Amino acid sequence: MNTPILLTPGPLTTSAQTKQAMLVDWGSWDQSFNQLTASVCHDITQIANGQDTHVCIPLQGSGTFAVEAALGTLVPRGGKVLVPNNGAYCQRIVRILGYLGRQAVVIDHREDEPANPERIEAALAADTHITHVALVHCETGTGILNPLHEIAQRVADQGRSLIVDAMSSFAALPIDLACTPIDALIAASGKCLEGVPGMGFVIARQDKIAAASGTCHSLALDLHDQWAYLRKTGQWRFTPPTHVVAALRAALDQFLAEGGTASRGARYQNNCNTLVKGMRELGLHTFLADELQAPIIVTFHAPAHPDFDFNRLYQGVRDKGFILYPGKLTQIETFRVGCIGAIGTHEVSLAVDAISQTLREQGIHF
Ligand SMILES: *Cc1c(COP(=O)(O)O)cnc(C)c1O
Repeated sequence: MNTPILLTPGPLTTSAQTKQAMLVDWGSWDQSFNQLTASVCHDITQIANGQDTHVCIPLQGSGTFAVEAALGTLVPRGGKVLVPNNGAYCQRIVRILGYLGRQAVVIDHREDEPANPERIEAALAADTHITHVALVHCETGTGILNPLHEIAQRVADQGRSLIVDAMSSFAALPIDLACTPIDALIAASGKCLEGVPGMGFVIARQDKIAAASGTCHSLALDLHDQWAYLRKTGQWRFTPPTHVVAALRAALDQFLAEGGTASRGARYQNNCNTLVKGMRELGLHTFLADELQAPIIVTFHAPAHPDFDFNRLYQGVRDKGFILYPGKLTQIETFRVGCIGAIGTHEVSLAVDAISQTLREQGIHF
């Protein structure tokens, strides 16, 4: 099959409308493209209810570029960042801080344990040199949901700044910047907004980004410079991913027509429920307890059979038109199935059928 259904956390399956929006070539200096950028940024800020306090700064590249830009621009060189760690994307933040030469304090958790607000608060109280907390909202490595609101409140109580990687949760799980204190919220075009990959964005408190002049180590990743230039000219610094922005505009229109975050989150929750139920009927087990599971991506234990090989399962399921995702745990063998993208329970059921059929063909009985 030439157009497989992606059950991955991005890139993900996009609608025909979103793909169609890429059939126009835009001039980056053209007023119409500036308006496109402005409308996309406006709607993104509004999704998080940040229009009175925050600004959306778009950035070329994948989501990690935006994470690195946010940390490099908002954490001063003498800053110290607390990172609650329960998975691969938390560890990526720690790596970025290492590259940037910013001090990191890591609070390790088990990968099936949500970031613990009490431990975070105690660590902040014990070390007044910590300036920031960098939290992953939905840790896509496993699919676990971290308690963002409670952590944000405690970080604010301690007078520190919070930077949130909401890459895989933004637009699917509610985040309200008017009642949850967050200085920078990071996500990207090709996740739950269901655009195509190619741009990240940071929804930053206006006062914080305005004060961050000259901090960044990198020209290309300097969010303050990107923000200031956009404000002055309406244009991106450097060549914008025009087709990605146009696709994101179309994707945002569909997101709003669907009913926004609540409706999208409900669709993903149905996908997730259908997936977990179907896989359990096959005898497969989830890595996370249901109450810790975000409706974004689900980690399954590999079936306990000596002949099981994820690459073979992947290929068999791929031949039937579906793309799975490998596991990211170091200790145990797992694989992941995404619930997000322009798909519904029908596609998820077909994917479970394809997995079932492939396991049978390969003689994996368990
Ligand atoms: C997808 C994702 C990222 C960004 O990854 P890229 O490969 O750079 O797009 C960062 N954090 C989380 C939690 C993610 O899910």
